[in-house]
Amino acid sequence: MAVLERRHEEGGGLNTEEPCIPGYYHNMHAQFMEFLDYMPVYKDFDLERMGARWVYPEAQCGIAFADGRPPVIIHRPDLLDRTWKSIARYSKADADTFCELKRRTMEIDQILAAALYTPPPPVPEGEIANPLDNPLIDPIFSHIGLDKTCVLKSPKAIIDELFETPELRALLYRECVEWGTPIDMEMGGVAFVMSVLWFSGIWKLMVGGTHTLAHAMTQACLREGVTFLESSEVSEVVLSGHRAVGVRTADGRKFGARHVVASSTDIQQTLLGMVGEENLSELWRRRARAFRYGPSHVLATTVWCLREAPHYRSAEADPEIDRCFYVMVGFDGPDDTIDYIRAAYSGHLPQHAAGVWVNTIHDPSQGPPGMHSATGWFFFPPADRLSEQEWEEVRRTYNARFLETWQRFAPNMTADNVLAERLYTPDQMDSKNKMRFGDFSNGAFALDQLNSSRPFPEAAQYRTEIESLYLCGASSHPGGGVHAGCGYNAYKAIAADHDLPAPSREGRIY
Ligand SMILES: Cc1cc2nc3c(=O)[nH]c(=O)nc-3n(C[C@H](O)[C@H](O)[C@H](O)COP(=O)(O)OP(=O)(O)OC[C@H]3O[C@@H](n4cnc5c(N)ncnc54)[C@H](O)[C@@H]3O)c2cc1C
Repeated sequence: MAVLERRHEEGGGLNTEEPCIPGYYHNMHAQFMEFLDYMPVYKDFDLERMGARWVYPEAQCGIAFADGRPPVIIHRPDLLDRTWKSIARYSKADADTFCELKRRTMEIDQILAAALYTPPPPVPEGEIANPLDNPLIDPIFSHIGLDKTCVLKSPKAIIDELFETPELRALLYRECVEWGTPIDMEMGGVAFVMSVLWFSGIWKLMVGGTHTLAHAMTQACLREGVTFLESSEVSEVVLSGHRAVGVRTADGRKFGARHVVASSTDIQQTLLGMVGEENLSELWRRRARAFRYGPSHVLATTVWCLREAPHYRSAEADPEIDRCFYVMVGFDGPDDTIDYIRAAYSGHLPQHAAGVWVNTIHDPSQGPPGMHSATGWFFFPPADRLSEQEWEEVRRTYNARFLETWQRFAPNMTADNVLAERLYTPDQMDSKNKMRFGDFSNGAFALDQLNSSRPFPEAAQYRTEIESLYLCGASSHPGGGVHAGCGYNAYKAIAADHDLPAPSREGRIY
């Protein structure tokens, strides 16, 4: 088996770099490892023996305020009493509701994980998937105790209905969109459970940076006899009739495939680019062309080398905010957060606000002794919404404006505290990683592009109309994220078609 990778190293969105000053490490893409407890590849391939290590910060996700109001902080699920105390500073009712929903959600986390690691139910030819037919809706909503009408509502409507505290809403709106869940998506009840109730508080950090997870996976593959070919950009899927028999690289090398070709690149690159429109049926050509990217998964990564970690005004009320894994900065209330998200979704640069983290607090190996590597995310418009010159201008100016905001929230964030900074924008993610338009899920989350309809109904079982060509990237269910779910599900399809062993289910239900 061979893996062909166009970059000089494997890992894609799991990269860690020293983009400003050597010795200051920054995760340029994926930062939060929310799936380590669930992803089959982690245990099945014993990635910890291959060098993967993580830390699990106690205070996970919080919001600071410029006027020093108490922060709201969500802690790990095993520290729910601290989450309760933090929310209860504003509202005991909200603290009760959040903590009870979170507790019940964690009781069924394996069922939620099964939704990621199981191919979506197939839809009979000519029919469309009904999102309400999802067999998980009943068990999830009954167990958690959420009114089932929430299934039909947008995450924002659910947050507004459940919680009265503006400060908590401001945090949860942003928490909701971190995984790309569109905040105003109707029928967003299941997405709300996943993004807000399940993912909050389960973020881990790879020691040494996210790239160490990719390295462990590569080591495991080498152990299993896989060959890696870097700097090998696939430009064509070689066909014999209607069957994939190999690939050709952009520099003209040809590789035969005895059994299958599996593509983790986005659906348009795979079908319209590598297979070629002329080799697709009219239906598949139309479906692939109509596939949409962005806007809810488009980020810019802001990178900072600091003398001191930020010290927030809100730390007077709760010092934990200074050690919190992920801190929302620049949102003084729910309107700020919602205006920010909607601006980015509609193609505009939002106000200067971010979610930021300082990994050196939890893993000092990510910076020089006593110094700090801080990184953060801005939600930005997709790459094609701004010209090349406009992106250049954004890279030159946006960080400085954000620093002004940051300093209002954390007075020690002065220019003197900053040794170097850089902004990495969606157009660069597109050209570097082929994340289309900077969309980290390689495809919009919309009802017609999710579950049994992702990337489109006929391709949702990881098979294509080209025999022996499979899809294993984020354009397929369950979309983006470091969960290895797309590949796991694709393997199930390949195993079924080629009489290979099904993956072990030891210790899990999927
Ligand atoms: C800024 C940002 C922050 C993120 N944060 C998180 C996070 O905190 N937690 C989380 O779980 N997820 C996060 N993600 C999402 C996650 O990184 C991606 O969803 C995930 O990496 C997708 O995995 P993939 O294997 O499908 O694609 P990728 O990781 O993009 O890998 C695809 C690989 O294919 C290669 N490739 C592309 N075209 C070709 C070709 N023609 N020939 C050969 N090779 C090719 C690419 O170079 C790349 O290495 C983030 C993403 C971004 C951009």
